[in-house]
Amino acid sequence: SRPASTYLAPVKLEDHTRSARQSIVGVPVPPVPEGIEGCIGNTPLFKIKSLSEATGCEIFAKAEFLNGAGGSPKDRVALNMIQMAEEEGLLTPGRGDTIYEGTVGSTGISLATLARAKGYKAYICMPNDQSKEKSDLLHHLGATVERVTPAPITSTEHFVNLARTRAREHTASNEDESKGFFADQFESLANYRAHFKTTGPEIWHQTGGQLDAFVAGAGTGGTISGISLFLKQEMGMGRDLKVVLADPEGSGLYNKVKHGVMFSSTEKEGTRRRQQVDTIVEGIGINRLTENFEAGRELIDDAVKVTDLQAMKMARWLVEKDGIFVGSSSAVNCVAAVFTALQMPKDSRIVTILCDSGTRHLSKFWKSVGEMGLEEEHEQTNLLALLGIK
Ligand code: PMP
Repeated sequence: SRPASTYLAPVKLEDHTRSARQSIVGVPVPPVPEGIEGCIGNTPLFKIKSLSEATGCEIFAKAEFLNGAGGSPKDRVALNMIQMAEEEGLLTPGRGDTIYEGTVGSTGISLATLARAKGYKAYICMPNDQSKEKSDLLHHLGATVERVTPAPITSTEHFVNLARTRAREHTASNEDESKGFFADQFESLANYRAHFKTTGPEIWHQTGGQLDAFVAGAGTGGTISGISLFLKQEMGMGRDLKVVLADPEGSGLYNKVKHGVMFSSTEKEGTRRRQQVDTIVEGIGINRLTENFEAGRELIDDAVKVTDLQAMKMARWLVEKDGIFVGSSSAVNCVAAVFTALQMPKDSRIVTILCDSGTRHLSKFWKSVGEMGLEEEHEQTNLLALLGIK
């Protein structure tokens, strides 16, 4: 017979009789979740070692791509929006209701997943310049997907306006009792409140309240507002928590935070033609002020502008040095976290968000990363030089 040491996991039969709340090593574990919605939240926080070493600060990542329904922080938002709609009678299980949403993908994926779990249909309007993986996933989840040509928010053809219209059309024209519910992640306060109720407290708990900066990008603004509102409330408003917006190219939010206007110094309000955010990055960056961004805007202390090239280099760096494979918005957050760290005293503790997995961005962002053609930089060992900082 083999020596006991060759058995990797010597689980004895009587282990199955242990209390459900005890793991094999004796550590209490939470109850088994009821359904996929029970796998949302409580994501790990971990230290990104290479970024911490390169900056002399501690840079922590909230692994939001590990949310167990749709694989992004939007799981929290979708669940909260659905629960609030159910409480208000706007959605009723078993009535054949449909959830409508305008989304660049993540929120749609979370809504479509939870719609399945809860017995609703999902109808998703998304711009046709977003990665194919996201719309493919939506199809497989059984959502109806309307991919639209990017248009200004003032146009009825903008993906958000279209989703609102489709929901109204549903409710107005249907022959049964079913209703169309427009989730409205950009303006619905259920969005930032999901982060205020869950992500913020988790970060607070996981850092023991010991953090000096929080860095995040904004798409709807729900993440940065909800988390900042909670953290600054816990730490006492104005205390030493620095909130930093990570903004990609073409977004107007950087200028709003830095200069109080949505437009660059060379543009005047109203003369701006480019309405869409002109970047390879998906999910963050926007040229209008949403209710969710406004909810926490006063709490944002600084902003960092991140180029597409910096985001691509960071994405590859994270894989090579840390084995972390994430999407473009996560890479932008990490670049901004590094910039923030360099402006803070040594050993400062900085938290940022890893929003979704790189697998959702293979055909677009990661294709560009692969084509970057910076072979001589492939073995780059100096992060700051790689990002063009030193
Ligand atoms: N990253 C990704 C991949 C996203 O899809 C989004 C939301 N559009 C964000 C980040 C930004 O989150 P928020 O909407 O809360 O600002």
